[in-house]
Amino acid sequence: VMGDVELFCQLNDKPIIAVTGSNGKSTVVSLLAHVANELGIKAALGGNVGIPVLDQLDNDVACFIFELSSFQLETVKSMRAIAATVLNISDDHLDRHQSFSNYHAIRQGIYTQTNVAVFNRDDSATFIPNIEKLAHKTCSFGTDSPSVGQFGIGTVSCKGTNKSSELCLMFGEQALIPLAKLPLAGLHNAMNYLAALALGHFAGWSVTTMVEKLTGFKGLAHRCQRIDSSDNIQWINDSKATNVGATLAAIEGLAPSLKLTGKKLIVIAGGEGKGADFSPLEALFSAHVSQLITFGKDGSKLASLMTNAIEVENLAAAVSSAKNVARDGDMVLLSPACASIDMFTSFVARGNQFIELVAELQTCGVNHVNN
Ligand code: ADP
Repeated sequence: VMGDVELFCQLNDKPIIAVTGSNGKSTVVSLLAHVANELGIKAALGGNVGIPVLDQLDNDVACFIFELSSFQLETVKSMRAIAATVLNISDDHLDRHQSFSNYHAIRQGIYTQTNVAVFNRDDSATFIPNIEKLAHKTCSFGTDSPSVGQFGIGTVSCKGTNKSSELCLMFGEQALIPLAKLPLAGLHNAMNYLAALALGHFAGWSVTTMVEKLTGFKGLAHRCQRIDSSDNIQWINDSKATNVGATLAAIEGLAPSLKLTGKKLIVIAGGEGKGADFSPLEALFSAHVSQLITFGKDGSKLASLMTNAIEVENLAAAVSSAKNVARDGDMVLLSPACASIDMFTSFVARGNQFIELVAELQTCGVNHVNN
């Protein structure tokens, strides 16, 4: 059995930049495509996103930017990417891949099919095995201060402002841009920016020019997206959080600003857990979440992680419960940690229903009855 991406790789002679990992793939490849477009480089998205690759064999582009799922990587053996990364690895798709070690090995298969392998210093599951024996180059990104030639985050003193220092994206000792100037918030997105810069750098694009283009990318729908509301509650749609790692990142990214203002975080989660272990969420829920509301197939497994959790029938009831609990300035975050397929056709349908339910609350101006 051969997948379409493998067949494409056997026939293609154009440069490929490849991205895999449990979370952030679509964000990173879309960011890279945006940057390429702004730099006047003709690049096409493919793999788990965009037009099917076999329809792109004759595409007259300077390079392909591939998002590769673990399902696709299972049969990809002939890729010769110019640069490739495993962004992060957390439990996902274990219903198909059976064990974490098998899932891990499949994601890591990308490293043997690239000239430059880019890994995440903060996630040991992305580390490259036998790195010293590799013929090809490696590079890394992480939230710490980077050494020369690596990407990271550093504290830089601000001249001429009333702030004494600020966090910046860094390339070695070079400060690139303050995090506060970047549209996609949260440390997980800072990591996405760094991964994109590292990959672009090894594609031969100038780092400083790429940085100028980062602010024009406003992010993808259903990923920690704010919903317009007039009820003084911050409603956030993170329906694309289909695994534990994505929900961890959303809570870690959003909770600090709420802590500063003394507001509560209410989380709606649940759906098809795909055999994942939810226990990594327990400590984070107790540290940051004032009310957990669960629904769907694995709603009760998630509810068992918090003593005061409310388990409801469906998303409409979850939104009603959240509205009853939330007060001025509080945040309600839909970040399910689960796939949507037990109740919806896709994460998009789940996110759209959430947006509609929140919009209804704004027009009727009264709390839904909890049913
Ligand atoms: P993927 O294509 O890998 O599913 P997306 O960019 O669509 O990734 O994001 C999926 C989910 O993961 C969203 O909930 C998003 O907020 C979250 N996310 C994005 N980047 C990261 C990251 N680097 N680490 C953890 N979670 C992330």
